[in-house]
Amino acid sequence: MQITGIKVYRVELPLYEGSYKWSGGRSVDVFDSTVVAIETDEGLVGYGEVCPLGPAYLPAYAAGARTGIAELAPHLLGLDPTQLHLVNRRMDESLRGHPYVKSAIDMACWDIFGKACGQPIVTLLGGRYGENFALYRAISQDTPERMAAMVGKYRAEGYTKFQLKSGSDVATDIARIHKVAAELRPGDVLVADANCGWTQHEAMCVAAGVRDVNVYIEQPCYSYEECLVVRQHTNRPFVLDEVVDDLKMVVRGYNDQAMDVINLKISKVGGLTKARQIRDLCVSLGIAMTIEDTWGGDIITAAIAHLAHSTPPEYLFSATDFNSYVTLSIAEGAPQRQHGRLAASSLPGLGVNPRLEILGAPIFHLATAK
Ligand code: MG
Repeated sequence: MQITGIKVYRVELPLYEGSYKWSGGRSVDVFDSTVVAIETDEGLVGYGEVCPLGPAYLPAYAAGARTGIAELAPHLLGLDPTQLHLVNRRMDESLRGHPYVKSAIDMACWDIFGKACGQPIVTLLGGRYGENFALYRAISQDTPERMAAMVGKYRAEGYTKFQLKSGSDVATDIARIHKVAAELRPGDVLVADANCGWTQHEAMCVAAGVRDVNVYIEQPCYSYEECLVVRQHTNRPFVLDEVVDDLKMVVRGYNDQAMDVINLKISKVGGLTKARQIRDLCVSLGIAMTIEDTWGGDIITAAIAHLAHSTPPEYLFSATDFNSYVTLSIAEGAPQRQHGRLAASSLPGLGVNPRLEILGAPIFHLATAK
């Protein structure tokens, strides 16, 4: 099988709640998502999606995803999309870094691989654990009172894991954590995710202020070194996210005992192929994971479901159903949240059919000359 064409679509994903706010006053109103279609000489088409959390979260931005895919496309024509490691090697040889650019392409190749062998990706990633898995709900940054009030709303939707967007001033964040924690029930999970928003001394103050609260602390500071200092001084379980962007960082963090949990975002590490390698290493090392992406719609939600559902439950800390945050469905067949839980499709590949009438005309198309 050979790749004969690559198309890129752009789609805007509005939010049910109007906007999503996190540390440093950053927010997004409408997500700018990119869908890639990879065509083959055997008629199979695979789809992938990448959707950065705006341009100020990670070194990634939506227009960069699209120009990056256009840059890579000529290097990919003629390759066999089912040879995932060869495709990734070619991408890494052709374009240094830029893992998020490569993520949608890798995802689309997994979709083709699954369709070619008649298997859902969850099976190809090792197999399905149980019926479904638990999701977390992010609570957009707001006043402590309004954030606490959201717990009941989300619990009514079935969620029992809550991720509190913090990372602003110390007193308000301590109040947020206490107020939200007061709404928890036995068995609920609360994570205070600062998204790099505290300086080291601020993070130390927050950690001290919540030492008797049942809360995890996620990515308090910008650098790995700052986070490590905070980790060494807090009694709370600790999650690293933004700084864990490849396999070497997992090894370094493990050797330093720098975290209990990592947040594994598919596009942050370059796609399902590399996310699977990190996932399997973490299982071997005993590190639990939140499995998700920076953002996305139905296609990314499907990919998350395949990776999360093939992860041993004791190491799957949580996962995200981004398609229930956004008002637009871009693909049929995507997994839908039920009672706060999600399951991977049983259909071949990702198990989704993009709604081409929603995606519109491709903004980029490169095909093999006939
Ligand atoms: Mg995070």
